Amino acid sequence: MSLVQKNIQKTNKEFENIELVLDNKIENEIKDFQIKEVLELFALPFNDLIFKASQLHRQFHNPNEVQISTLLSIKTGGCPENCKYCPQSAHYDTGLEKQGLLAIDKILESAQNAKEAGASRFCMGAAWRSLHDRDVEKICEIVQAVKDTGLETCMTLGMLTDTQSKKLKEAGLDYYNHNIDSSEEFYSEIISTRNFADRLNTLKNVREAGLNVCSGGIVGMGETRQDRAKMLIVLANLPKQPESVPINMLVKVKGTPLENIDNLDPFEFIRTIAVARIMMPKSKVRLSAGREEMNEQTQALCFLAGANSIFYGEKLLTTQNPQTKKDQDLFLKLGIRGV
Ligand code: SF4
Repeated sequence: MSLVQKNIQKTNKEFENIELVLDNKIENEIKDFQIKEVLELFALPFNDLIFKASQLHRQFHNPNEVQISTLLSIKTGGCPENCKYCPQSAHYDTGLEKQGLLAIDKILESAQNAKEAGASRFCMGAAWRSLHDRDVEKICEIVQAVKDTGLETCMTLGMLTDTQSKKLKEAGLDYYNHNIDSSEEFYSEIISTRNFADRLNTLKNVREAGLNVCSGGIVGMGETRQDRAKMLIVLANLPKQPESVPINMLVKVKGTPLENIDNLDPFEFIRTIAVARIMMPKSKVRLSAGREEMNEQTQALCFLAGANSIFYGEKLLTTQNPQTKKDQDLFLKLGIRGV
């Protein structure tokens, strides 16, 4: 047997072993992914990994449909948290203009525009550490008004208590976004004003209130592959996996501590998408921030690897996002339908 044949046989064997373990976990919804098997998955030959991810994608989703969300910053800048990637943190001078809570008619106008441009979900973000009780009523009014346009609603407002989560659910909120950002071990390297357990606590409150969960993270912040794997393990091992899993590529904003961090290899980003798809086969995996710096081919490989949701529109909270027209052109080239 030639060396090449031996290598192919070895690769196939490794693939089969991981496949058996994972198939059993996915089929029986056993949520105890272990670091060793997830790292093995990450290390598969690229084609094998994408093939496996693509197979699962087809089993649970239409591979030619991508869900479209639009994101609006409803309160910008001046955040007391010190997330090293974020231009909205008051700890860093990024030249960002602060803005208080937007008036409801402004928000509704943006929601209407998003709907006309083809979005099915309208996500609203406020740069707060946590939601204050004094703002709950106003936020509930916004949720109700956007919901009345026929769009799905999503909010990201920082930490939530159980009572606040229930009130948002009663107001008609569909999704709550709260990213875990990275692994628990790497978390303190990026943020020191709150801890990983705070994130998990809000996710618990949101889930128990009956809201759909949107939770993912950011890659390219100087973390290791092990951190990326551990982040996905935390998400995949939640009692109920998030309905939406945004995977963001760091957007290096001038003035933030991560502005000069080394780029993450795009293939590693695609691998992260594929592993997320395999571990959370029923979730929408969202190709989130960082698309502005990705070429069309990288984005196409992400869709092949199982990404089936994007943010649409010119801005992602405060950073640039590919223009709607560019996205429409790409969808046309790939035969993808936005839903
Ligand atoms: S990521 Fe959110 S919590 Fe962190 S600084 Fe930015 S707005 Fe504040």
